[in-house]
Amino acid sequence: MSITVRVPAKVNVQLAVGAPRPDGYHDLANVFLAVGLYDTVTATPADGLRLTVTGPDAAQVPLDGSNLAARAALALAERAGRTADVHLHIAKDIPVAGGMAGGSADAAAALVACDALWGLATPREVLLSICADLGSDVPFSLVGEAALGTGRGEKLEPLEVGGTFHWVFAAADGGLSTPAVYREFDRLCEGREVPAPTASPALLAALREGDPHALAATVDNDLQPAALSLNPALAATLAAGTEAGALAALVSGSGPTTAFLAEDAPAAARIAEALTASGTCRSARVAASPAPGATVVGQDPEPDRDTVPARADQG
Ligand code: ATP
Repeated sequence: MSITVRVPAKVNVQLAVGAPRPDGYHDLANVFLAVGLYDTVTATPADGLRLTVTGPDAAQVPLDGSNLAARAALALAERAGRTADVHLHIAKDIPVAGGMAGGSADAAAALVACDALWGLATPREVLLSICADLGSDVPFSLVGEAALGTGRGEKLEPLEVGGTFHWVFAAADGGLSTPAVYREFDRLCEGREVPAPTASPALLAALREGDPHALAATVDNDLQPAALSLNPALAATLAAGTEAGALAALVSGSGPTTAFLAEDAPAAARIAEALTASGTCRSARVAASPAPGATVVGQDPEPDRDTVPARADQG
């Protein structure tokens, strides 16, 4: 028996960040949009917890207990009073440390896959609370589509989206650590009053109406100056996408992936081609949004384990 779950990446169309709280976290108004760029996680019974990863960025994914997918499997097993005897195989297509919540996506996918494999039928609210314990972005990876996250981003309210938005995502060389970007945000804000974060009514209306021009006029990422300060080369990528006709160009979450909103699918293809040719990014690819959250896409009663390509194992 094996279960395969597909899970999307995200872009933050608004990321309003408040002042640091006493616990070190920041209050957020975080408008998440799931995009059709996916990892898949396959769970198969095994002796103990095993982890394998394939994909272009696989070498950057930790295979030890810090891997969020492994932590998700352990958290679910502990709650169910059983051992996490599972081989998790991650087919990784979401850029690593790119500001697209790839690790969070794998955690949500692993939870759904293990829940199905172990026949637990864990209530959705319980899965969501395990997700929130694992990280601020993990609950959104479970639900997908579009949502407003408040608190440190983990309190979610679903949002209506009235159409399909077409994006281009440009991967940058190297990654940016999310905590480092928040530290830089705090440094840049020193001595300034940071307003309490609130969702923009105009942006929520643009999503509801499915209007890319209105969305382009309202996208906003408070972490962008911090990401640009740590990786100034991103400014050239943003400029290249704007020159190629993007309606909006922004850093995705904590970066360094950059996101470009296009008028329609053909425009997105043209922008991706121009960005690739510009030499200002590692690669550029199109993706549409919204996209569903972590979903079971395959149940194989008797998989041939040898067909799973493995980079490395964690015993
Ligand atoms: P976010 O957008 O949520 O801030 P991110 O997209 O910037 O996250 P991730 O790809 O989630 O970043 O990776 C952040 C770090 O998490 C990586 O550098 C890696 O060390 C660690 N990590 C743990 N588990 C995973 C996983 N399954 N996939 C990728 N990275 C993981």
